[in-house]
Order: sequence, then C-alpha cells, then structure tokens
Amino acid sequence: MNFEVLTLFPHSLEPIFGSSILGRAADKGLISINCTDIRDYTKDKHRRVDDAPYGGGYGMVMMCQPVVDCIRAVKSRLSGSTRVIYMSPQGSLFNQKKAQELKQYDNLVLLCGHYEGIDERIIQLEIDEELSVGNYVLTGGELPAAIVVDCVSRLIDGVLPSPECYSEESLQNGLLEHAQYTRPRIFEGLEVPEVLVNGDHGKQRRWKEEQSLQRTQTKRPDLLTENDYEQSEEENP
Ligand code: SAM
Repeated sequence: MNFEVLTLFPHSLEPIFGSSILGRAADKGLISINCTDIRDYTKDKHRRVDDAPYGGGYGMVMMCQPVVDCIRAVKSRLSGSTRVIYMSPQGSLFNQKKAQELKQYDNLVLLCGHYEGIDERIIQLEIDEELSVGNYVLTGGELPAAIVVDCVSRLIDGVLPSPECYSEESLQNGLLEHAQYTRPRIFEGLEVPEVLVNGDHGKQRRWKEEQSLQRTQTKRPDLLTENDYEQSEEENP
C-alpha cells in the first residue's frame, strides 16, 4: 500500500514515518510513504501558497493553484486504485471501520491543510472524501494524516507479526479489548487475575470475551449502541 502525504511541512512527519513499526514496514516494502512539499508546486515568484480570505476574516487560506497542481502531479505517477482525502475537522470521523475500508485502496493521497484551511474549490475539484480525527481543531493536517497512515498500515498483511495482533484489539470488532498484564505477577499488592496464569486456554478465552464486553459497557457504552458492534456480530457470530 502506498501513502502520499501532501503537506507544507514534510520534515515534520519524517521522524514518525521513519521509526518503529512503520519504518520497518517501509524497509520491507510492505508500505511506502512519500511526503510531498506543496510549496514546490507554487507558480508564485515568492513561493507563496496562501492568501487572505475573500470576505475578510482571520488568518490565511491555502490557494487553489499549488494544491491542485500538487495533487494532480502526485496522482499522475500513481497506478491502481486511489482515494484522495483532505484531513479536515469538517470531515466524517475517522474510525477503525474506515481504516478497514481504506486498506482496500492501492494508494491513499492525504492532503494536510494549514492556517485557516484550504480554498473550497480544491475540495470541489480534487477531493474524494474529508476525514476528521476528532471533534477538535488542530493547527495542521499533518498529525491527522499520520494517524490515518499508522492506523491503516497496521492492518496491511505482514506489518504486524500476525493478523491476531489487531483482530482482537479494541474497536476492531466494535468492543474494547480485555485488560492486559505482564510480569511481575504481583505489583504493589495488585495481583494478575488467577485465570490468566492457570493455563486453561478455554477459560482464558471466555474471561477475555467477558472482560471485553464488561469494559465496553463501563468505559464506552456508546459503542454498544453503534451499528459497528451489531454488524460485526452478524459477520462473526
Ligand atoms: N478553519 C478551519 C475550520 O474551521 O474548519 C480549520 C483549519 S485548521 C486550523 C488547519 C488544518 O488543520 C485544516 O485544514 C486541517 O487539515 C487540519 N485539521 C485541524 N483539525 C483537524 C481534525 N480534527 N481532523 C483532521 N484535520 C484537522
């Protein structure tokens, strides 16, 4: 899978994409991540990429020409299925289900806005979908784009040691994951539940399922009323 991140600050993302699991996945050729500097596409002699908003208002707006040219140039060198996404607080909320959906594409082009955002005509001309990472506003789309790259990448075959690494994780089936413990068995008087150390795998599986449901009821009851859980139950009865 190939990710193309279009940004005014490509260097801000290098440490995130170059390290740990993502870095290793890229080294193995399981994913590729390219960051393109939108400013390289401006035709303005002062290399400007933004201008004041029509109708007044605070801040600057990213201009059509450099952004549209950048998207088109990047798309022209891609083959296979491509989805162009603008990271925006106005988009639909990104979640695990959306990550599964995006995994099906050969290429994801992720446009990062900055300042007051982008000229609306860019969305009309080139954007397939707007995605938000939460109901809050950040200074730029770089962190949101990194979230999408990270979340989708770990669903790609081979990026994690086994599909089980994510299939039992929180939200993958609409529920939260059970509690996790590692050594030591007792820490400051708090003991690991007996069932996890008694070697009965059937009991352990049932404990994990019960825990998963209980924790979701306690911590995120909203998940149980969402379609996500009901659908996944129908798919995996
Ligand atoms: N003026 C815009 C508005 O009210 O919708 C917000 C612009 S924001 C300060 C600058 C950029 O950060 C946006 O263009 C977008 O790319 C990114 N951004 C901010 N919050 C985001 C969020 N919750 N999800 C995804 N992208 C976000």
